[in-house]
Amino acid sequence: MSEIEGKYIIHFKLRSRTNLHIGTGKVDMDTDALCQRNASGEIVISGTTLAGVFRCILERLYGESDPIITEFFGYVDEQSSNSQASHIYFEDAVIEDTRSPHTDIRDGIGINRGYQSAQYHCKYDRETVFKGAFFPCIITVNLTASNKNKIDTILNYLRICLYTLNEGLSPLGGGASAGLGFCSIESAKICFLDFMTRRDNLQDFLLKDFYDGNNTITLKDKDGNDYFQDFSFTSKISVTPSQLKYFNYCVKIEYNLETVEPLLINGPRTNEEDVDFKFVTTGGECFIPGSSFKGPLRSRAEMILRTMGDNSICDPVANPCPQSTPCRACEIFGYQGKKSSILVSDLEACENPSLKYFTHNKIDRFTGGTIANALFDERLVFNGTFKGTMVIDSPDLFTIRLLIHLFKDLYLEDIRMGHGKTNGYGKIKGKITKLQVFAISLSKIDRKPLSEYGLTYNKEEGIFQIIEITDIYFPENKKVFSSLIKAVKSKEWVYE
Ligand SMILES: [Zn+2]
Repeated sequence: MSEIEGKYIIHFKLRSRTNLHIGTGKVDMDTDALCQRNASGEIVISGTTLAGVFRCILERLYGESDPIITEFFGYVDEQSSNSQASHIYFEDAVIEDTRSPHTDIRDGIGINRGYQSAQYHCKYDRETVFKGAFFPCIITVNLTASNKNKIDTILNYLRICLYTLNEGLSPLGGGASAGLGFCSIESAKICFLDFMTRRDNLQDFLLKDFYDGNNTITLKDKDGNDYFQDFSFTSKISVTPSQLKYFNYCVKIEYNLETVEPLLINGPRTNEEDVDFKFVTTGGECFIPGSSFKGPLRSRAEMILRTMGDNSICDPVANPCPQSTPCRACEIFGYQGKKSSILVSDLEACENPSLKYFTHNKIDRFTGGTIANALFDERLVFNGTFKGTMVIDSPDLFTIRLLIHLFKDLYLEDIRMGHGKTNGYGKIKGKITKLQVFAISLSKIDRKPLSEYGLTYNKEEGIFQIIEITDIYFPENKKVFSSLIKAVKSKEWVYE
């Protein structure tokens, strides 16, 4: 390995926008899956996890054998036992969060389609870090004589990773299909230390603390210049489509769900609770787990697909279809062993939702009278709005058609969710607040150019061309969508 001529230090804060699970594979008495911790018991995202996430984002774009990725991230060739150390180092990122504790246990339950109730032996749980926690991250890139000419490329690769994480196009950690791991990237800074011609840079690097939280940002060199400059990851980066292997485009939908009827998404039962059924909270705030919204969406999608004459749609819990030939619903929403191509983030409350307490008495099914000592209480959201994000990786037009149907049904208040759906609970209205299409190379979706439907690429950021629409329910945008729906209805879509 050639001599190190300098170092780039990149510093940024990763903030969890939804709860986050960075697993260890360890199990304890309370939960099946614990978060990573360092020796002092603090929650961390380990450097190896971060490196893995960044590498994974890049390999999705450029392929596993991209020479720049292997050169900078290192490799081990198991055949020849050749290996190369990496030129990029990721520090462990320790949580910055004043709340205590910073985590809770997230329950996941498989829903039985026939009974609409929890399926026996289909429960798992994991520890999650609350949304809003910060992780200060530091990445160091070594500059050597041999990698000098590729350094701009690798810095752009890192920009691409930050952009992808910030937009939620690649959630972090486990449980992404259950709504976890959406992040944002804040105050990204970069500094270059020149060890060849600036002895003071080397001295500062060895003697000063470059790794101490906010100090890294204000550190100045001997001339009084700031070491750190802004590391912009939203400005345009040019790539030739031929470099790109896999990722084609994705659709991101931001939406609100408003309660039309009282809503009860059951939280886990705890001993000290004064209420029998209470709305699920995390970090003291009501929220809707992504998986709790995805369940009803999938059920409705199954219904639509069956109505469209697809008899192969399976019951994913009681009678899943064979993995070798997944049905359409499994292909889109995932099945055991395959991740869903639709990621539904947890939904957070827009402002404090109004909560109400209800007391009911269980009814004896035989006499129709009340049962003695069978009072139960519920704490539910009477009036509230929740916002969430949905990311769909390279949907074909069939999937787009399905999504249009789903959001139409949500807008028409035709989908219910949560507890007590048969008792006048759980009706919601869903409204798209922002729709974005991120495309790199337009080859796949340009077979039927979206401009023909009045959709235009109106933004360029990072490596993406972006269609962004914020006011879908405005008449002029409604026109765009009805033309798209008409085109889709007349089967002008391309089957992949
Ligand atoms: Zn299936």
